[in-house]
Amino acid sequence: MDKPFIGQRTMDNLTARCPECFRVFDLMDEVDAQEFYYGHDCES
Ligand SMILES: [Zn+2]
Repeated sequence: MDKPFIGQRTMDNLTARCPECFRVFDLMDEVDAQEFYYGHDCES
């Protein structure tokens, strides 16, 4: 069995989905992360 690539094992931790609008945020992206943590327009 091949060893997993270290760069791939944290993939699930790099994105987050808003439970209200189901928008997926890229937490490695500064703007996306700010919108996820500080709020965004779910209605838009
Ligand atoms: Zn939302």
